[in-house]
Amino acid sequence: MDSRTLIKKYLEFFADKGHSIIPSSPLIPENDPTVLFTTAGMHPLVPYLLGEKHPGGKRLANVQICVRTGDIDEVGDPTHHTFFEMLGNWSLRDYWKKESISWSWEFLTKVLKIPAEKLAVTCFEGDADAPKDDESAEIWKLQGLPSGRIFFLPKADNWWGPAGQTGPCGPDTEIFYETGKPCGKNCRPGDGCGRFVEIWNNVFMHYEKKKDGTFSKLEIQNVDTGMGVDRTTAVLAGLDDNYLVTDLWEKIIESISKISGKKYSENVKAFRVIADHSRAATFIASEGVLPANKERGYVLRRLVRRSVRYGKMLGINDLFLDQVVKAVIITFKDSYSILENNQKQILETILTEEKKFAQTLERGLREIEKQGKLDGKKAFWLYETYGFPVELTEEIAQEKGQKIDNKIFEAEFQKHRDLSRTASAGMFKGGLADASEEVTKLHTATHLLHKALRMVLGAGVSQKGSNITNERLRFDFSYSQKLTPEELSEIVDIVNSQIDQKLPVSFKTETLAEAKKENALAFFAEKYGDAVKVYTVGNPDGKWFSKEVCGGPHVENTGQIGHVRIIKQEKLGAGIMRIYATNK
Ligand code: ATP
Ligand code: MG
Repeated sequence: MDSRTLIKKYLEFFADKGHSIIPSSPLIPENDPTVLFTTAGMHPLVPYLLGEKHPGGKRLANVQICVRTGDIDEVGDPTHHTFFEMLGNWSLRDYWKKESISWSWEFLTKVLKIPAEKLAVTCFEGDADAPKDDESAEIWKLQGLPSGRIFFLPKADNWWGPAGQTGPCGPDTEIFYETGKPCGKNCRPGDGCGRFVEIWNNVFMHYEKKKDGTFSKLEIQNVDTGMGVDRTTAVLAGLDDNYLVTDLWEKIIESISKISGKKYSENVKAFRVIADHSRAATFIASEGVLPANKERGYVLRRLVRRSVRYGKMLGINDLFLDQVVKAVIITFKDSYSILENNQKQILETILTEEKKFAQTLERGLREIEKQGKLDGKKAFWLYETYGFPVELTEEIAQEKGQKIDNKIFEAEFQKHRDLSRTASAGMFKGGLADASEEVTKLHTATHLLHKALRMVLGAGVSQKGSNITNERLRFDFSYSQKLTPEELSEIVDIVNSQIDQKLPVSFKTETLAEAKKENALAFFAEKYGDAVKVYTVGNPDGKWFSKEVCGGPHVENTGQIGHVRIIKQEKLGAGIMRIYATNK
């Protein structure tokens, strides 16, 4: 079964069980300035898990594109990627453990026809905060899973969340596939020995973690599940290596083979890193992220640079990533139209960074010539200043008969990493639940701005990215030159006139096709969704100013926003402009 069939079967199965199929949210969280990327299907759903009503109802399912920067160091193994698709089904205060577990069992054993004896699960063993999850274990047994295949593990393994410091969380039950590679020891699911691969995780959100670190039981019960598409497709094909899944990786791996003249089987790690990072970089760039020295731009930069470096290890000396990126686009374009629509921009973004890094490498090499003797401190300096990979410095040092003290480099590096870890941990605090009043106002202002830009500059303008903080909105859109002062003031006037008119803002749920028929603007990464939220500024059935498919939240009336002014514009290149605006 190929990955697209798996997705189709999953969504059909859960639609049959009364779930609305919702679209994948973008990788860049729409209304959440506190996180870098969407890391799981539940992430865009946090407000609904906390109690807000979802337009799709109480049962939802989808396939969500995710990026986990925290897994970057795992890339190279057979089962971890930085970018991957996650299938998920949710119960918002509706069904509970019995339905969730029995449906997982039914889907795996009946629809996917995985032999029952290949499955094993883990459940929460209980501690001072919450009792042992015997309930889930009993339900598993009722399905026919022998008790010897049920393992109880502590919080570190079998407790999910909260997403930030506080919020909904609870015990989970993880479903593993036994690969048939006994490691010889007394191993168990989740010990990382490779005998069991985790494919699905069902979280029973029944607790809330408080600020003081204690857990209290919630009145409401939510179910949140997540299943990796790469892993499950691999398992179904009897493969112990995700990268051998034909429909997901073959074209990408082939492109690397063609350029390098090397074989995957003989260069597994380098191929996996290049393939994985190129896939992630392509999807990240498709949403308008540009390489930079911080936050999302830094992740993109790091992915491109690591790909180039591993390319060098394969003996590739020319620019090559465009070939790999094209293979990624061909692989996923039918599922994610954003890739084909933004192909030019994606290729230009990645090529520009690849070229820049090629220069960096050259400059670094020249610097090394000047430096004379190399040591750990210098290696770190080269790394920090030029992004010059320490492995290369080491290699060159070796050629010169010198040695770099790794301990000194590591110590410097650790200092640096702790700093950036602290910075990115800060990004996670609060999660979506924190979408503040200010962010909400600026979010509605973004819709007004988007429409006004199209009115003044033409319908060729479309959103390429958006980022909102309490202080300002930032909006990237397709347009290739700076706006004139006249254009800017016309746009601001249009926006503020909608604000002065105190127009109502409302939403309704409809199919994507209906939304498009009503000329609602829609920009997402994918095409699977049924029910979408369409936000209208004005009268949805009469005179309206803007209609846009969007997850919200928005103000109820434009009068709440306050007057908006544009504070800055920048030309990002690749036919993209950026505008900053504020209501302060
Ligand atoms: P692992 O322990 O293997 O890293 P996880 O506990 O981080 O997995 P979850 O957060 O429960 O995984 O995510 C749900 C599902 O998403 C997993 O069961 C797995 O199938 C998939 N998944 C998680 N991380 C990755 C990844 N880096 N690459 C590919 N699939 C993943
Ligand atoms: Mg993980």
